[in-house]
This record gives sequence, C-alpha cells and structure tokens, in this order.
Amino acid sequence: MEKVVVIGSGCAGWTAALYAARANLQPLVLTGAQPGGLLTTTSIVENYPGFPEGVDGYELMVRMQKQAERFGARTKFGTVEAADLSRQPFALSVDGERVETQTVIIATGASHRHLGLENEHKLENKGVTYCATCDGALPMFRNQPLVVVGGGDSACEEATYLTRFGREVYLVHRRDSLRASKIMADRTLSNPKIKPVWDSVVTDVLGLSQDKVTGVRLKNLKTGAESTLECSGVFVAIGHVPNTHLFKGVIDMDANGYILPKKGSATNVPGVFVAGDCADHVYRQAITAAGLGCAAAIDAERFLAAQRQ
Ligand code: NAP
Repeated sequence: MEKVVVIGSGCAGWTAALYAARANLQPLVLTGAQPGGLLTTTSIVENYPGFPEGVDGYELMVRMQKQAERFGARTKFGTVEAADLSRQPFALSVDGERVETQTVIIATGASHRHLGLENEHKLENKGVTYCATCDGALPMFRNQPLVVVGGGDSACEEATYLTRFGREVYLVHRRDSLRASKIMADRTLSNPKIKPVWDSVVTDVLGLSQDKVTGVRLKNLKTGAESTLECSGVFVAIGHVPNTHLFKGVIDMDANGYILPKKGSATNVPGVFVAGDCADHVYRQAITAAGLGCAAAIDAERFLAAQRQ
C-alpha cells in the first residue's frame, strides 16, 4: 500500500514528489504518457527563477526528477487508465496493474488544444504539429513557408523558434492583438521573418491528396474574406485542455474540466489533492505549477498525520 501516489510528472508532479519524499512518504510517481510533461517540449525556459541564462525545458524536468528521486521518490512509467476514488484505500489501474494508496495527488497537467478540423486530424504528423521544438527541425519544414496558429505565449515562442528553419513564419491569430506577455509579443512582432495575419482563423488544412500539408484556408473574421495561404507546416498553439477526463463525475471540476479545489489543494474527496495546470486556467506557469505541487504534498502529509492520530 502506498502512502502517496502522484499522478503526473510535470513541474507540479515532481515538486509534489520532492516534498512528499522529504517528508519520508516515499511517493510513487506515475509518469503518464509524456514523462516530464509539456515543458519537455519547449525550448529555453527563461522565466524559471534561479536560471538567469534560461534553462532547457527537458533538462529542467530531468533535474526535478533526479532531485525528487534523491530523497526517495519512486518513478513508474505508465498511464493511469482507471481510478477508484470512492473508498479508502484508493485504487488505480496503471497499464493493467493495480496500485493502492492512502492519498493521491492529481498533477495530470493539460494537453494541446486542437482546431477541430477534419483535415487537421488527417494530416497530423504530415505537416500538422503541436510542438515546434519537437518537429520544427524536420527536413519537410526547412526553408519553407510555415503557419503558426494562436496569439498566446506558446504561439509566439513557436513562431520565433521556427524562424531558424522556415523561410517565413505566418502567425495566424483570430484577433488584432496578441494575448502573449509584452516581452514575447514585442520580440515576435519585431522579427522580420514573422508575418502576422490578424483577425483570421484557419478553416481548412490543405494537401490531403498529396498526403502532406500544402497550405491552409483562412477566413478573415472582420471582413468575411476567404483566402489560401501556401505552407508546408501548420503549428497549432491555441492553448490547452486539462487532462482530467479520468476523474469526471467523481472530482469536482468546472465546465471546461479544470479541477476545482475546495480548500488549498484538497478536492471534494478527502485524501485526493490536486496541483498544477489541471486545476489552473489562470496562471499556468512552470513556477506556479511547482508551487502548487509543493502545497499539495504538504496537504497530503498533514492529511496522513491527522489520520494517524
Ligand atoms: P493561451 O495563453 O491560452 O493562448 C491561446 C491562444 O490561442 C490565444 O491567443 C487564443 O486567442 C487562441 N485560441 C484559442 N482557441 C482558439 C481557436 N479555437 N482558434 C483560434 N485561436 C484560438 O495559451 P498558451 O499560449 O499555450 O499559453 C498557456 C499558458 O502558458 C499561459 O499562461 C502562458 O503565459 C504560459 N506560457 C508561458 C511561456 C513563457 O513565459 N515562456 C511560454 C508558453 C506558455 P484569444 O487571444 O483570442 O483568446
């Protein structure tokens, strides 16, 4: 029987594991399908305190894992496919194996939001991607016109990164101003290789007959005008959806699936705590996720101590 199981291995998960490990609770971390979480797919993280020169996202996550393991956290690679949180001990099914635990920290993060177009799905990995850092350097994108969709920090980061490889990068955004932080927006808009396409949405991804992306159909939301933009890559960066479907109907969440903590990191189920992007649609930073992971571990530790009394 485990004392603490952390579901998820992003900033929130590893920080929760670090604190739980240092409280001698030997937490078990279930990594999920993407060990290290979304940060492993970014390039340089410039706003994580303590790294004045920035730090590679993947490296930061490996360091967090090592730090938690140094104090006794254990790592199990696998995905939770079912969770019975209706009674103590809680039971999780991880790739077919049953894990029982007294407390659970849900740190399952969020996944990339999709445009929801039929051809987007059909041309995924054939020019449609959700991660410039992972795919930007592929030969198919070299010296080609590329499209990034979105207006937030992620879209700006992706567009800037892609200027290393693409001939030009079109930043398609549905409004006429960016949502991104000022420093990111200024950097993006002053890059001569990035061409903003304002007030526009992608209505179709073209190239199905050639089995690779050849362009996008665009619609200007102000004028209604439709146009075609030739490109070899479509990098979708339009935000995230929380990875909480497993807990639907059991753990309280809002209409968008973000878990609603009751007090601190405690959920409506005593012994189940939550941390990070799966419960945060406001801040969504690496450092806030880490802070919430710390809080969840402290709350779990106090819950276990109270049960012993
Ligand atoms: P975000 O801030 O939610 O931005 C999503 C963008 O996509 C918005 O511009 C939004 O348009 C647009 N969008 C949403 N749904 C759309 C749709 N169906 N069709 C077209 N466009 C759509 O998401 P994010 O950029 O991934 O950032 C998430 C969080 O991570 C933020 O808190 C951000 O600050 C943080 N982050 C930070 C860094 C960094 O500091 N280095 C890097 C990446 C991310 P509207 O603007 O019109 O809503």
